[in-house]
Amino acid sequence: MKSYEIKRSKIDNLGLCASRNIKKGEKIIEYKGKVITRREAEENPKYDNGKAIYLFNLNKRYDLDGDFKFNTARLINHSCDPNCEVTGTGLKVWVHAIKNIKKGEEFSYDYGFSFDEDFKNYPCRCGSKNCCGYIVREGSRWRIRRKRKKKD
Ligand SMILES: [Zn+2]
Repeated sequence: MKSYEIKRSKIDNLGLCASRNIKKGEKIIEYKGKVITRREAEENPKYDNGKAIYLFNLNKRYDLDGDFKFNTARLINHSCDPNCEVTGTGLKVWVHAIKNIKKGEEFSYDYGFSFDEDFKNYPCRCGSKNCCGYIVREGSRWRIRRKRKKKD
């Protein structure tokens, strides 16, 4: 049985929600896309715009471009307190639960954006308690919190 459904999201436009209770560790949906060489990713202007949201690094040679309509998993939004994780095995990428998820809850994962000069272009509306206000990967969020403190 499918464990997800497309719904209006609290975070951003559309999202994916659990259509039944899901256990921590369960595979939810395959992150589908086109396997391209890292060289293609570097040379194609399509991936040249700052943050490649749908581009996953698979290994030294290949990336997965998930920027296609058939990739339903692309609807999953970023959260600073995510309940999912995206990981690859070989050339396959799966979204799976890192917490128990109740029916109706929205799926989210950490987009893992690096902290750089244009982080302000990617505000986060995830609404979680620990939200730092921008889509930046967990390990770099303290930099933003520090900036905020300075302003106060
Ligand atoms: Zn957030």
